[in-house]
Amino acid sequence: MKYAVIVCPGCGRARGIETARKTSTCQCGRKVFTSRVKRHFLTDTPSELAAAVAEANAALAGGNQLSKKRTRKKTNPYSMIAERTKGVKDTTQRLSQIAQELTEHGQEFSLADLRKVAALVGKEPADEMLALMIANNIVYEVGDERYRAV
Ligand SMILES: [Zn+2]
Repeated sequence: MKYAVIVCPGCGRARGIETARKTSTCQCGRKVFTSRVKRHFLTDTPSELAAAVAEANAALAGGNQLSKKRTRKKTNPYSMIAERTKGVKDTTQRLSQIAQELTEHGQEFSLADLRKVAALVGKEPADEMLALMIANNIVYEVGDERYRAV
């Protein structure tokens, strides 16, 4: 790769370097030995390099460490649904919201899906939830013991 993004040890700003060159002098005057600094991004394309430098500087300005990978928090859909519906006091309303969210999440859902939510909500057991959903016309069976919100 011809280019890399580094963070200048002098001024702490990201900049692009040519990897073939041993040293690179930053705008702040600091001479950087390119082999001694961490390369955050490698590319052969100058336009990609420019974009990566801009992104790195934006991240640095936002107080983010470049070396830390920005990992998106893994969200479990069942716990998200449980979290959002747990506080709904009215049983029918709660069940209807759970059914809708499960349907949105996976087009349809099974008793097994419902169990995962039921365990987290901690109210009715899943079988009872499903029975109530059916009795209250909240869901209909699409076949093969899979359900969908009405
Ligand atoms: Zn510098």
